[in-house]
Amino acid sequence: MGLCPREFPVGAGGAEQAGAERKRGSGMVEVRERSWGAVHVVRPGIGVEVANGQDETFPGFVAGALEQVRGVPVGGDLVDAFAPDGDGAGFRCITDPGSGGGEGGAYHGVTLLFQQSVALRPRIGAAKPPAIETKAVGGRRDDGTRVFEAPWIPCVRLPGRPAEGSPVMLGEGREMHHDGVVNPDFAGKADFGLVVFHEMCHAYYDQAGAAGLMSGRAAEFEAAPGHRVADFQNYAEEILVCGLLQGKGLKYCENTYRRQKGLPPRPAYSAVGLKDDPDLAAFAWPSGGPDAPFKEWKAVLRELNFSTA
Ligand SMILES: [Zn+2]
Repeated sequence: MGLCPREFPVGAGGAEQAGAERKRGSGMVEVRERSWGAVHVVRPGIGVEVANGQDETFPGFVAGALEQVRGVPVGGDLVDAFAPDGDGAGFRCITDPGSGGGEGGAYHGVTLLFQQSVALRPRIGAAKPPAIETKAVGGRRDDGTRVFEAPWIPCVRLPGRPAEGSPVMLGEGREMHHDGVVNPDFAGKADFGLVVFHEMCHAYYDQAGAAGLMSGRAAEFEAAPGHRVADFQNYAEEILVCGLLQGKGLKYCENTYRRQKGLPPRPAYSAVGLKDDPDLAAFAWPSGGPDAPFKEWKAVLRELNFSTA
């Protein structure tokens, strides 16, 4: 037991200019090995959990996707937002030493975790394909048992990188390929940087407090006429994360990232009933500069009739 740090360079970190590298962190990975597996800290505040027997290439896959994210201006800022001694100073960490928090713990200083998602094959009922999703987790004790107590941290779950020519089915026409994800909600193939950025926006709005402000509104929204959306929180969260309807113009949304990367906007998130934004094509996206600031996420919540006081 105890901390067994091991360092190695990751991605293109070593090729960067020294100034940018100082700003973004060391580009080194710290591996915190435990009896159950390890937490690889691939960026400041960002950990990748690998249990014994899981795909050992998964941390490198995530680190590579994070390098793609950092290649887009809002992506670099979002990665930095999770650094516990930077923008993410107020973000939740696991603090209980018994849950892997605290000084020397496997999750010390981690404000965002990645885990590998696998297909579930229940004894009864249909098999469930692996998901790309963001959930909250409480870490693990050093004996490997999971912790189901607050404070939780957001956790992005996605399958390991498929081999070339062997795509993984995610359900409803969505497929994960060797080089990205195909989804009927958008044209072309989204690279893993874009997919990871989208999930990191969910994690950001959770850590920033938006998810907490939105919870508990599902029943109210279901009662509203003209809507067939099962879960208002999921719907509102995708408005923020995709950057559609009231969410257009946010800094941390998929459509600002797409715009900065020169990609067409994402027009829909069908699974939550989010589609048909009549103002999307003509929208004047802000640059984020002093004359064209990004929209504040709390303003979006107020337009959706949430109280942000
Ligand atoms: Zn989403």
